[in-house]
Order: sequence, then C-alpha cells, then structure tokens
Amino acid sequence: MKDAYHTVIIGGGCLGVACAVSLARALKTTDYHRICLIEKAVLGAGLSSRHSAIVRSANSSPIAARVAKKSTQYWKELKNIWGVTAPLSQTGAIWIGKNSYKQKTPNAWRQLAQKMQDNHIEFYPIDNKKAKSLTSGQIRLDEDELYYFEPDVLQLEASGILQAMQQALSLNKVDVKEHTEVTSFTTDHSGKINSVITSKGKINCTHVINASGGWSPRLFAQLGLDIPIALEPVYAANWLISAADLPTNLPIIADFINRAYFRRWRGSILHMHQPRKRNVSHISSSFSYSLMNPLGSDIIYDASNYAVTYAQLQHYSDKVVNRFPAIGKPLYAGGYVSYFDITPDLKFILGQDDQIENLYHCLGGGQALKYAPAFGELISELITTGRTQEFDLSEFSISRFGTKNLVDFWSHPENILNEDSL
Ligand SMILES: Cc1cc2nc3c(=O)[nH]c(=O)nc-3n(C[C@H](O)[C@H](O)[C@H](O)COP(=O)(O)OP(=O)(O)OC[C@H]3O[C@@H](n4cnc5c(N)ncnc54)[C@H](O)[C@@H]3O)c2cc1C
Repeated sequence: MKDAYHTVIIGGGCLGVACAVSLARALKTTDYHRICLIEKAVLGAGLSSRHSAIVRSANSSPIAARVAKKSTQYWKELKNIWGVTAPLSQTGAIWIGKNSYKQKTPNAWRQLAQKMQDNHIEFYPIDNKKAKSLTSGQIRLDEDELYYFEPDVLQLEASGILQAMQQALSLNKVDVKEHTEVTSFTTDHSGKINSVITSKGKINCTHVINASGGWSPRLFAQLGLDIPIALEPVYAANWLISAADLPTNLPIIADFINRAYFRRWRGSILHMHQPRKRNVSHISSSFSYSLMNPLGSDIIYDASNYAVTYAQLQHYSDKVVNRFPAIGKPLYAGGYVSYFDITPDLKFILGQDDQIENLYHCLGGGQALKYAPAFGELISELITTGRTQEFDLSEFSISRFGTKNLVDFWSHPENILNEDSL
C-alpha cells in the first residue's frame, strides 16, 4: 500500500522500543519513515517506568531461561544491538527458599538448580557462610532456609533504561508518535491489518506489533481477538537505610520466605515489591477481576497515583525488619501502585498471531524488562526472515490458549510457570 510503514509498533514501553530499534537496524533503515512507534502517552508511561530494573535468568522454562541469559548479554553489550548503552552493575542475586530436607519430597529449588545447570545457567546452592559474606552480614540467615546464588544477575536503573530507550529510537531513526492513541484498525479482504486508526488519523502499515501490554485485551477485542491478559496490582516501596547498613554491592535478595524482592537503589535506598502470585486460585481471581473491569489498565494503573496505604506499608515494613534486622525501624522513602500484566500461565506471549497473519505479539507476562533486547531481536528476526533460528518460540505462541476454556488450562498445574512458587 502506498505510504505504508514497513511496521507499526503499538506501545512505547521497553518491549515496543526494543522491537522498533531491532527492526530498524535489521532493515538498515535509511528512510526515516519505515518503522513507526505509536504511544498513547509518552515513552515509558506504562509498566516500563515502574519496575525494579533487575535482569535475571533462572526460570522453570528452560527456553525462557536461555532467552533471558541471551538478553542479559545484550543488556551488557547494548551498544552492539541498539547503538547506545545503559548503566548497570552485576551484583548477582541470592534466592532464599524453604528447606524441605525433613519433608522427604523433592525440593523444587534443587530441581530448578539442576534444570539451570543442564541449560548452562549459573544458579547454585551456597551455604550460610557464603550468604553472610555476600551480604556483609546484613541479612538474617536461618537453618530452615536454602540459599542459591545466581552470579550473572544485573541491576540497572529505571532512569538509565528510559534514557537508553529514547536515545536508541532517535539514533535508529524510528518515527515516534507520542500522545497518539491507536483506537481501531482496518483490514483487507484477507483479514490482514492494513492500517491503524489513531487519535491523530489513519496510519497505513504492512506489519503490526502489539506491544501494548496490559491494554491489549481491550484494543484487540475489536478485531475479534481474545488476548488473555489480566492485571495483578502490586505495590513497590522504597526505604531509606543508613549507608553503613546497606552494602553498595548488595546482591538482589529474592526472598521467597517473605515473598519480597529487595534491591539497592542509588543512594542508600532499599527498594522492594512482592513477586507475582503463582497459584491457580490467585491467577484466576485476577482474571475474574479483569472481566469486571473493562477499562483494564486505565483504571488499575494510574500514573499519577503514588499513594500506598498504611496497611500495605506496615506489611512491607515487617518483611524488611524480618530480613534486615540490623537496620532498625525502616524509614519510608516513597512508593507507588503498579501491576503485573499476567497471562494464565505467567509465561510471555511472543510471536505471530494465529489468526491475523501480519500481527505479532510481544507481551511480557508480568516480568519482561529483562527480556526486552532479546525479544526485540527475536520479533525482528521473525518479521524479516519468517522464523527464529536459535529459539523455538512455540511454547510462547498465543495459539497455546486457543479456544481452550481457561478452567481446562488451569486444571493442569504443569501449565503454570512455577520457578519460585515454593
Ligand atoms: C513492581 C514491578 C517490578 C518489576 N520489576 C521487574 C524487574 O525487575 N525486571 C523485569 O524484567 N521486569 C520487571 N517488571 C515487569 C516489567 O516492568 C514489565 O514486564 C515491562 O515493563 C513490560 O513492558 P511493556 O513494554 O510490555 O509494557 P508497558 O511498559 O506497560 O508499555 C505498554 C505501552 O503501551 C501503551 N499503549 C497502550 N495502549 C495503547 C494504544 N491503544 N495506543 C498507543 N499506545 C498504547 C501504554 O501507554 C504503555 O506505555 C516489574 C513490574 C512491576 C509491576
């Protein structure tokens, strides 16, 4: 079609930006107008400015773990694929789980460690002495706990990532349209999308990438597509800690006893949030709430809302005191409400749509900043060559949900990603 963009990407979060940049570079865009990224607010307006900027690999899906490992390498050498850099540090992560020695059941942490070893991802048990030395004696350790160390884990800064996203789009000549909302689509006789209708007019295109995260179900329902994404609200909180009590090289603490991720932010801030809930009853209730909330992310996610309730803070404060007993009473230094954009099995949705041939999904499943550079490369490869060479993405195809009733899907526990449901 005349004046059509090669690809229109909907959503200016980290996944949309990664797809736009990788595709622009793959096509060696000399023409300023071949790749168009459309964002209804501003770049990073969604989850991509409310994450913890942790990049890790351990995952009960070996392919997801290998993609994450590759992505970790991309983050380290971002200049090679995006042409810009993002500041980061490699502190590693300590995972804390239950010790089930006495339970005589196979311990899922050991199974995970074995799986990671088989896939060449470093994730190994450490003893209390090692955990103590890695954390300068600042965390509570317990005989009834297991400690695993993942040395390759990176910590980035949210502002550094946002700056890298903005610079990479500009450097790679992606046509960015902020404050422009995609409201609907037109299709041709074969059902392919040939234009997106926006708040600022019609934009013709040959391919479309859906990177609209938690907003996807509402937008794509217009095309008769059922994108199974629900929203699980979560709080993130920051605590001001004495610099003497928070070592600068503190590894990320993925604490599954307290159900909290802790990391050090710049300054001596301890940042924390709860992980995604991982059992079917919690996942299904998030889906039922989403059905009652047709406006989805616009209601649950309010970028102007920085309020966290007293009860929530008290709950988090107890977790901090439990794991960092030496720091005294934690001093609240700000927090915010956010959400995870979860899928029924908590896995991401990546690849071509199973009904509309020129539509590609790049949706994170709740934990996807870490995958962003790898997802961008994979979607770009898929669009430009029709396949991905290194990774078989069928496990992450939207077709896995098919016309299946979600109850049938959930009645098989093996369907749910459970690396840390322990
Ligand atoms: C508290 C918390 C901590 C997290 N920590 C980590 C972490 O440490 N590591 C990690 O890997 N992941 C983490 N995540 C997950 C991570 O933040 C997300 O997976 C990731 O940011 C998703 O990016 P995205 O681009 O898919 O979505 P988003 O950033 O939400 O982007 C979607 C964009 O689409 C736009 N949009 C929607 N509809 C339209 C439309 N109709 N037209 C135009 N634009 C539209 C929205 O405005 C939005 O900007 C965390 C999440 C939370 C909640």
